[in-house]
Amino acid sequence: MMSNITVCARFRPLSAKERKDSCDSICISSIDSESFIFKDEKDECTYSFDKVFYEESMQADVFEFLALPIVKDAVKGVNGTIITYGQTGAGKTYSVEGPSILECDVQKKGLLPRVVDGLFECIKSADESTKYTIKLSMVEIYMEKVRDLLDLTKDNIQIKENKEQEILLSGVTEITISGPEGALQSLSDGIVNRAVGETQLDYCTPFTEMNVGSSRSHCIYILTVQLESTTDKRVKTGKVILVDLAGSEKVEKTGAEGKVLEESKTINKSLSALGNVINALTCGPSTRSSHIPFRDSKLTRILQDALGGNSRTALLCCCSPSASNASETLSTIRFGMRAKHIKASPLVSRREEKHAKKHGDITPTKDESCDRIL
Ligand code: ADP
Ligand code: MG
Repeated sequence: MMSNITVCARFRPLSAKERKDSCDSICISSIDSESFIFKDEKDECTYSFDKVFYEESMQADVFEFLALPIVKDAVKGVNGTIITYGQTGAGKTYSVEGPSILECDVQKKGLLPRVVDGLFECIKSADESTKYTIKLSMVEIYMEKVRDLLDLTKDNIQIKENKEQEILLSGVTEITISGPEGALQSLSDGIVNRAVGETQLDYCTPFTEMNVGSSRSHCIYILTVQLESTTDKRVKTGKVILVDLAGSEKVEKTGAEGKVLEESKTINKSLSALGNVINALTCGPSTRSSHIPFRDSKLTRILQDALGGNSRTALLCCCSPSASNASETLSTIRFGMRAKHIKASPLVSRREEKHAKKHGDITPTKDESCDRIL
């Protein structure tokens, strides 16, 4: 059984502080584009991933390997999910957004704006028998509550499951985007609404003081491509879901107190739930226990389709190469290694939505009118 999950590791360059503190000592050395050696005081071990991106890697390389196949599938009606995992300061948000979502330097643009560009590019070159509509939703999971980043009044979105066992975000805002520029502006507005805090950690001090806002939430971007056949009016959808997870550092190490401690515990709990789901899934569909604990956290519940086999999934394990972060880097590598062994079921066939009514009416049925299907 082939795995539907692609797992990559990405090592960012040493930060100025790491360079100073650890005198350029790094805990990994490259073997090739799929393997590296990890070394700490105790051990030395070789790890292999589907792809390893080293510090000199370009944002475009990461996009092409990890996200482009998912983008190409989405415009055919197949769902895909891209998840970034790693400690605070490891490069998750840099990989997803770039230095900023409105980054002008084309080389530095992150996965998200590239996915948007890619989707519009693909539909431009598609044949004329299909009419495409692209929609955007953005939510974050903060303190186990799902908040709508495009409408902050919706601060406790419920996760539901429909008869076809698809996961729904009840009442979430969905905006139709007509081109990359409009999409970027909406994304930028939503990103401003993210819950951010400053983790007081020496070891994850970011590169520049400009980016001290380490995320305290999991952020989920959902781009839905609706395909309507111009001949028989059939409608189907393909989604690209991008997940920028909150930092995976252990709560004991953060020295956090009060609200920050509570946030860290909630983050650790949901990431543990993600780890438990991955562990339960690594047995493969034939031998796996029938209970996969998707319901243990909002994160795993929302990612149920992605991890359970209804989606093509890519995991980017973001790491610092610094010896001073070796234990967190090892923990991220191990998480990725476990995920690599998920034996997902083959992709389910695309969800063929109901026949659109005459005159191209594709209005959802009443039950679904305000639910986003993940
Ligand atoms: P995270 O989201 O994992 O907490 P960030 O993406 O915010 O971490 O990265 C922390 C800092 O490191 C930021 O200042 C970011 O610009 C920088 N950085 C991360 N990855 C890279 C990279 N591949 N190349 C250059 N700078 C990077
Ligand atoms: Mg971040």
